[in-house]
Amino acid sequence: MLAALLRRYQLLFYPKDGSVEMYDVKNQRTFLRRTKYDDLHQEDLFVGNRINVFSRQLNLVDYGDQYTANKLGSKKERTLAMIKPDAVTKVGDIIQMIYDAGLIVTKAKMTKLSWKQAGDFYMEHQSKSFFNNLVQFVTSGPVVVMELMGDEAVSVWRKVLGPTDSGAARKDAPASLRARFGTDGTKNAGHGSDSLASAARELELFFPSTTGHGPSNTAQYSYCTCCIIKPHAISEALTGKILNSITEAGFEISALQIFNLDQASAEEFLEIYKGVVSEYTGMVAELCSGPCMALEIHGPDAPREFRAFCGPSDPEIARHLQPATLRARYGKNKVQNAVHCTDLQEDGLLEVQYFFKILEG
Ligand code: GDP
Ligand code: MG
Repeated sequence: MLAALLRRYQLLFYPKDGSVEMYDVKNQRTFLRRTKYDDLHQEDLFVGNRINVFSRQLNLVDYGDQYTANKLGSKKERTLAMIKPDAVTKVGDIIQMIYDAGLIVTKAKMTKLSWKQAGDFYMEHQSKSFFNNLVQFVTSGPVVVMELMGDEAVSVWRKVLGPTDSGAARKDAPASLRARFGTDGTKNAGHGSDSLASAARELELFFPSTTGHGPSNTAQYSYCTCCIIKPHAISEALTGKILNSITEAGFEISALQIFNLDQASAEEFLEIYKGVVSEYTGMVAELCSGPCMALEIHGPDAPREFRAFCGPSDPEIARHLQPATLRARYGKNKVQNAVHCTDLQEDGLLEVQYFFKILEG
């Protein structure tokens, strides 16, 4: 695989007319002349976010000056969210609640915690009477860990969760996540960091910034097919709805992770379509235009059944012929058609391996 080329640019955004300009810092010359660009909005511009400017994926690493930092970045926070084992089947509803609260999901991974990992995570509670019950519960099945980002993300996410005890939540905050999906004082559907310092520690545990990959994913590599929620659908905040549709249709999601593909990886993954479908170049550009979410769908006849549930690759045709399919409901056009799914039965395993083994490293 080719290594991604990293270059540093200065990006200028003009809120008045929504135009952008890019300056190549190293070569000291204009890279993109000031041009109107409707797909970028002021609220996308904060350090840590990934944006897309004319099919070029950019990581925002710093603010141009102090004024910009104060204006755009002052309230932005990152926090660690965990969907506990009792609510993992509600992942779609929960991601919808996250977006409805004005936060975005920047990282996500389904994992199964070992006793040691759970103990480290809950180290502050080691001396509590409920510690063993708690560790037993969070290791009892898969969890989904996520990095959330947005204005005051730490407190906003805790507000979405509601009171620790699910019973109290149903009384005091009936619309909260724990009221809706929790059972009792231990089985309470979700976790949220309680401060910026805890968020930093917990994010480092699950999404290490330097070495390693954190806890392993839950891919099973048998009776499986691969689904990719495409970047356009993620940025249109459709992730929750798509996941809900998938689980409501009876499919089991056995692995889930957010990836950021570079051009070379997107080309490699979509290689079989090269020279076969006319949209190949567009498909590659779409797949590396921003974060995507990869799923392993598990079931005896998963490749065939899930393929049918996605529908015809052209959403217009899908809307005419099979209006209940994913592409009919969430697709825009042949390239931005909401999801990729494995086409050939025998490729299901290979595609799952491409994401959950090769890209995961
Ligand atoms: P949180 O920050 O709202 O999750 O609450 P804590 O940090 O105080 O506790 C961590 C987790 O331990 C909670 O989410 C519950 O799953 C569990 N827990 C907390 N307090 C109790 C308790 O009094 N009894 C039991 N059985 N479990 C508790
Ligand atoms: Mg806590």
